Amino acid sequence: MRSAADSRVNIIGAGLAGALLAVLLARRGLAVTLFERRPDPRQAQPERGRSINLALAARGIRSLERAGVMERVRPLMIAMRGRMVHERSGPSALQPYGQREHEVIYSVGRADLNRVLIEEALRHPNVAVRFNQQCTGVDVHANRLRLRDASSGSAHELDLAPAIATDGAGSAVRASLAAAGLVTVREQWLDHDYKELTIPPVAGRPALETHALHIWPRGGFMLIALPNTDASFTATLFLARAGAQGFATLDNGSAVAKFFAGQFPDAVPLLPNLVEEFAQHPQGQLGTVHAAPWRVGGKVLLLGDAAHAIVPFHGQGMNAAFEDCRVLDELLDRHEDWETLFAELERARRPNTEAIAQMALENYIEMRDTVLDARFVRLKGLAMALERRFPDRFIPRYSMVMFHPEIPYSEALRRGTLQAQLLDELDPGDEAGPDLGRAEKLIGERLPPIG
Ligand SMILES: Cc1cc2nc3c(=O)[nH]c(=O)nc-3n(C[C@H](O)[C@H](O)[C@H](O)COP(=O)(O)OP(=O)(O)OC[C@H]3O[C@@H](n4cnc5c(N)ncnc54)[C@H](O)[C@@H]3O)c2cc1C
Repeated sequence: MRSAADSRVNIIGAGLAGALLAVLLARRGLAVTLFERRPDPRQAQPERGRSINLALAARGIRSLERAGVMERVRPLMIAMRGRMVHERSGPSALQPYGQREHEVIYSVGRADLNRVLIEEALRHPNVAVRFNQQCTGVDVHANRLRLRDASSGSAHELDLAPAIATDGAGSAVRASLAAAGLVTVREQWLDHDYKELTIPPVAGRPALETHALHIWPRGGFMLIALPNTDASFTATLFLARAGAQGFATLDNGSAVAKFFAGQFPDAVPLLPNLVEEFAQHPQGQLGTVHAAPWRVGGKVLLLGDAAHAIVPFHGQGMNAAFEDCRVLDELLDRHEDWETLFAELERARRPNTEAIAQMALENYIEMRDTVLDARFVRLKGLAMALERRFPDRFIPRYSMVMFHPEIPYSEALRRGTLQAQLLDELDPGDEAGPDLGRAEKLIGERLPPIG
């Protein structure tokens, strides 16, 4: 068995997880080669219309800190203190995400973040990044990694193992392992797609409040917008693919303009290129990937979206992928060989990635629908009151996921379910405050101290 500590490792996909993992492994002295199908992002233009910015939260930040790259990432981050909910009739109101100063999430540009992570990886002499190298599959038995040079089109092969596949939701490595019967994959597609649009600055200034994630919830669908460092916002429409209110009916400019005027009247003046962008930008699909196992012996490990892509409604896909990298790095302190390391990583992470997959699906309903509901707003207030009164036992589920990386996703899901029942029982049904005596009794009985 080869020792992990003095070895070489291949990483397939120099996206968010692959580049961060390269930094973490290089700091340990491992020799890392990254294979990336795209051109070098330091020279090429980023793709437009593909989740341009992302919400970064405490789990992701903890992993970036471990890699020592936060100083370079911080200038890319814009704090978002809450959801700015835009009603169809016009008014908007901020629903804070947390109740402490630091309880915010951050908008960060995908392309800039990826470029910084690749630059940080390349500062290590033991890291090499091979751009324009598309993995076309792996042969575990013959120990071969198959690549195609995207510029010349020529195919070639290299020694495979050990390899960590961070080639994203559509992973070619996962597909070839599935084709060889080594991994079982279930892809659960959502019947809603997304489309990204631009809200440019107005006279050089942001067109909306900068420090918020804007949402126009409309029941079965929604528009959201996150700020960028150039004072623009990236808006994303999430909408059913088919049906009377779906992408299928928005097949011409006047249908698009009419739909937006009817559903998002206050957003229309902010989207001067709506019709052109709607026609030009891709319509993205969303889904959850369930793969098992994530590894073949000590030869290949799937990580990040390649192992467990999720829908984006909790803003946690990248955060979870970064957490994978941190956990793998921590496990390297204790495990010397790749096979045990890969097995332990899967054992530690699978229950957590399954939990966040479920919570991400649940959050779509919350974002597009229930945020407008008076009961939802009342229970959120009640949950915050309980957190202030019983901070070591009650933390709202959203806060556990976004602000408490020390609480695993699976524990956030488990405690969140108990808390939801409790909130139901304690809901005063009006604006009256909670019965704190009863709350203390029920919390004492059902929620042991956290940690
Ligand atoms: C609309 C949308 C919004 C999102 N919003 C958020 C958010 O707010 N917060 C959050 O935490 N997450 C969010 N996510 C999820 C996030 O984008 C992913 O979870 C994250 O990018 C996963 O990182 P990764 O490195 O595993 O995959 P990726 O970032 O997809 O990287 C994969 C890399 O592999 C390369 N690659 C692919 N195939 C091959 C191949 N065959 N050979 C070689 N290289 C290859 C790709 O070019 C890419 O560089 C969102 C996703 C979407 C779709």
